[in-house]
Amino acid sequence: MKKLRIAVVGAGIGGLSLALALREKGMEVDLYEQASELREVGAAVALSAASTRFYIDRLGLEPQLAERWYEIQALIHRDGRDGRIVSEHRWDYRARYGAPYVGIHRADFQVVLSGAVGMAPIHLKKKLTSIDDSGSEAVLHFADGSTAAADLVIGADGARSTVRRLLLGYDDALYSGASAFRGIVPSDQMPSMPDKDAIQFWMGPGQHCLHYPINAEGAHNFFLVERNPTPWPHQGWIAPTDDEEKLARFHDWHPAIVEMVSAVSCTERWALFYRPPLSHWSKGRVTLLGDAAHAMVPHHGQGANTSIEDAIVLADQLATYDDLGEAQAEYERLRRGRTRKIQHASVTHADVLHLPDGERADERNARLAAPGAFDRHLDWIHGFRPGEQEPSEVQGGTWL
Ligand SMILES: Cc1cc2nc3c(=O)[nH]c(=O)nc-3n(C[C@H](O)[C@H](O)[C@H](O)COP(=O)(O)OP(=O)(O)OC[C@H]3O[C@@H](n4cnc5c(N)ncnc54)[C@H](O)[C@@H]3O)c2cc1C
Repeated sequence: MKKLRIAVVGAGIGGLSLALALREKGMEVDLYEQASELREVGAAVALSAASTRFYIDRLGLEPQLAERWYEIQALIHRDGRDGRIVSEHRWDYRARYGAPYVGIHRADFQVVLSGAVGMAPIHLKKKLTSIDDSGSEAVLHFADGSTAAADLVIGADGARSTVRRLLLGYDDALYSGASAFRGIVPSDQMPSMPDKDAIQFWMGPGQHCLHYPINAEGAHNFFLVERNPTPWPHQGWIAPTDDEEKLARFHDWHPAIVEMVSAVSCTERWALFYRPPLSHWSKGRVTLLGDAAHAMVPHHGQGANTSIEDAIVLADQLATYDDLGEAQAEYERLRRGRTRKIQHASVTHADVLHLPDGERADERNARLAAPGAFDRHLDWIHGFRPGEQEPSEVQGGTWL
């Protein structure tokens, strides 16, 4: 049988995970990455059990990852001003889901993933500009003038995907109405912070702070979000800022928050954009994966996790079906509904966190604190087993 040539555009979290998932099935890919090195500074991701189970059980990467990631022990919601606990869910997460819930620096994560893939199939400094899918093979064109041919092209090129724009013919990014300051703070520079082993949401009218531990030393990744008038007034998704602007709406928040976010300087404000759900993720020999297929806002911390779920499911379908069209269709069937639901939940979660003081905020707090709240509202996200379950087998809703 002729060997399938698979070109993956983007060696980020989804692209590298797809390469590993396909290799487990005996299939190799070529990854084309625009960057000159695989490194992103100053960002981290949270990974839930679907992802960590894949890396531990199927890829055997626990030794490399465990020395870099932090196993999160609890989920806590607080009032952002007085710091009182609204709800606290402490679980033996690993026992419950068979794998840990972790925070990890994105650069650390990419080092482990690219180390496992190996550099041979990763082609750096290859910025995709166009794809010609009109002939007997797809031809990828790069900014340096070079080309590559493939039987299947996977667009894993992130939230600002060129592949998606080529498929649609336009840029469909939507501003969520919120922007964020982010930073990484060593544990010893945030001595007042309570419950440093937890992922915590501090809530207030029109703003919130999310933070979680990301390495063995206990550094925290914070994400300070505020609602802004729409539309986003700047060109591009990142605008210059300073610490005065960062603290303007948070200076009177709880001292532990002010201490944490003051420990590092922020020079960038990130607009939070997402992409509307598509009815199809594939056209001809081209298919989307990860943020390129379903970019979401990070209020549920599920962007990386859903990209890895996509990679697991797509690799399974490509290994199962000889016909590429059937593999693409089954992949979409298994992934569209679930990612659409998580996308919607991630956008509306901001509304829940940002309620003005009053009756609705009090009702929200009661809902968050009610016994079994985690099971009712979040188990469907954390308990899903991609590749083993139909998405419809996992029932559940959002905090709304
Ligand atoms: C501020 C912020 C905080 C976040 N926090 C979390 C979190 O806590 N938990 C979580 O799970 N997720 C989080 N996310 C989301 C998460 O980072 C993404 O969902 C995840 O990285 C998506 O993986 P991906 O492979 O689709 O894209 P990426 O990991 O972004 O990879 C895309 C790759 O494609 C490359 N590329 C782009 N264009 C081209 C081109 N034209 N040619 C070649 N290569 C190209 C890029 O250089 C990049 O390497 C956050 C995102 C943001 C912006």
